[in-house]
Amino acid sequence: MLRLNEVKLPLDHSEAELPAAILARLQIPAAELLGFSVFKRSYDARKRSAIVLIYSLDVEVKDQAGVLARLAHDSHLMASPDTGYKFVAKGEQLAGHDHNERPVVVGSGPCGLFAALVLAQMGLRPIILERGKEVRERTVDTFGFWRKRELNPESNVQFGEGGAGTFSDGKLYSQIKDPKHYGRKVLTEFVKAGAPAEIMYVSKPHIGTFRLVKMVEQMRANIEAMGGEYRFGSKVVDIDIEPGADGGQVRGLTLEGGEKIATRHVVLAIGHSARDTFEMLYERGVYIEAKPFSIGFRVEHPQSLIDACRFGPSAGHPILGAADYKLVHHASNGRAVYSFCMCPGGTVVAAASEPGRVVTNGMSQYSRNERNANSAIVVGITPEQDFPGHPLAGIELQRRLEEKAFELGGGDYSAPGQLMGDFVAGRASTAFGAVVPSYKPGVHLTDLALALPEYAVTALREAFPAFDKQIKGYFKADAVLTGLETRTSSPIRIKRRDDTLQSLNTRGLFPAGEGAGYAGGILSAGVDGIKVAEAVALSMAAA
Ligand code: FAD
Repeated sequence: MLRLNEVKLPLDHSEAELPAAILARLQIPAAELLGFSVFKRSYDARKRSAIVLIYSLDVEVKDQAGVLARLAHDSHLMASPDTGYKFVAKGEQLAGHDHNERPVVVGSGPCGLFAALVLAQMGLRPIILERGKEVRERTVDTFGFWRKRELNPESNVQFGEGGAGTFSDGKLYSQIKDPKHYGRKVLTEFVKAGAPAEIMYVSKPHIGTFRLVKMVEQMRANIEAMGGEYRFGSKVVDIDIEPGADGGQVRGLTLEGGEKIATRHVVLAIGHSARDTFEMLYERGVYIEAKPFSIGFRVEHPQSLIDACRFGPSAGHPILGAADYKLVHHASNGRAVYSFCMCPGGTVVAAASEPGRVVTNGMSQYSRNERNANSAIVVGITPEQDFPGHPLAGIELQRRLEEKAFELGGGDYSAPGQLMGDFVAGRASTAFGAVVPSYKPGVHLTDLALALPEYAVTALREAFPAFDKQIKGYFKADAVLTGLETRTSSPIRIKRRDDTLQSLNTRGLFPAGEGAGYAGGILSAGVDGIKVAEAVALSMAAA
């Protein structure tokens, strides 16, 4: 099979133009072409009047060696790399491990899910401990919070089967380096579990909320069929570490209610919102350090404005879908302001997990056909500059900000909001304009400058007008800001060794995914889960 990259065709090209382009590029007659499939499809919309589709294709020809030799100078042509997943250990290699010992995966977000899946596929029968409920029950609680303002601290947008990304846009792309093609394994397993097949080849795939719910359920059934065991409502509240000269060794976990589970292999995939668990780990001496994260607002514009700006006359084209954007501004006070987790045609959601605190995030359905585009616009902050002194100081800062947001929102889980024009001009808002905010349970208009530290307010006030140079119309007087975004990534890193992926000072503990500071987003969390499952298997095989 040949991989042919950079095949460019106009947005509205006909079906026949693709094979014709292959024949022209490979300089072969039609009879030599045995077949082809699309490996990746992206678009170049820099010239809005002439948007171009860019294909990477897997092509089968009669004389592969001949074509490769003849076109050796073409850097966009090569033998297709093998992107199939290979287990690091399976069957006989693991036959010697102690069959009474089962690895435990804490958390069933994308990281825990993929760790559990790969462990189960290797025959290691993982136990999955999840503090929240199974995904259907969790959906009822989460939607209940949005409708009735009743927060269940153990069953919400952050906690429960599927983890933080279950009620999301389901974007499935990432900037991580992935030489072993683990991302392909994640996408392949998602498709097996019911994701649309196109996620394998479109450059920025997304799934949307409702499909994710079904996929998570299907993957659970697969893991159980392979001997894995799920336990919901099972919050880990303590960890038993056998002390040793070179750090400790995990011996087991304690669940809320007192039950103890003995194990020497724990995948810790608890996400960035398990603040109580972070505190427990810190108290038990597990090495944790503070790391940078970001704070800011969610902003809503009409999706039609973003579409028109990005795609011009092709706005609404089915191949392009609802347009996204990515923005960065380096403010004169030294702060970076950037867009994060942009959700085209979606809604802003209440993402709190602690009572008396307000946090926003975004989600969408597969169709992405809601009226507004939303994105977090956030300011980067660092432990050295903004929350020095203690490894968990970032959590305290998050809590303070989320409490302030709750207070400014009126104390009933409404989010505090402001029109963009008013925020930049420094006056409180009193009435919405044409943009109707989507956040449920509701938005309470106020002065959002009261919600963030001054450096962040200054940087954001500078950024919105600057973004208008990148997206005409972005600095829109009645675009709605809601707050706060405080959970863009984990405020801590549970540092691990590069070679064994075990905690720096606690053997048998495999910190993983977003909460441990090793992933950001669904795909990279899934990839990290696979890596850590492999490390667990190798450790068990060695023992
Ligand atoms: P999580 O998904 O946070 O999972 C952690 C799990 O651990 C949770 O289920 C939690 O209940 C459980 N847990 C925590 N503590 C304990 C304990 N003590 N005992 C037992 N269980 C415990 N990313 C994207 O790539 N694309 C998107 O479109 C996107 N949209 C998002 C929209 C929203 C509303 C949110 C909140 C996030 C979104 N993200 C998105 C981010 C993405 O969801 C996360 O990066 C990802 O879920 C991290 O995966 P994880 O498995 O590391 O952690």
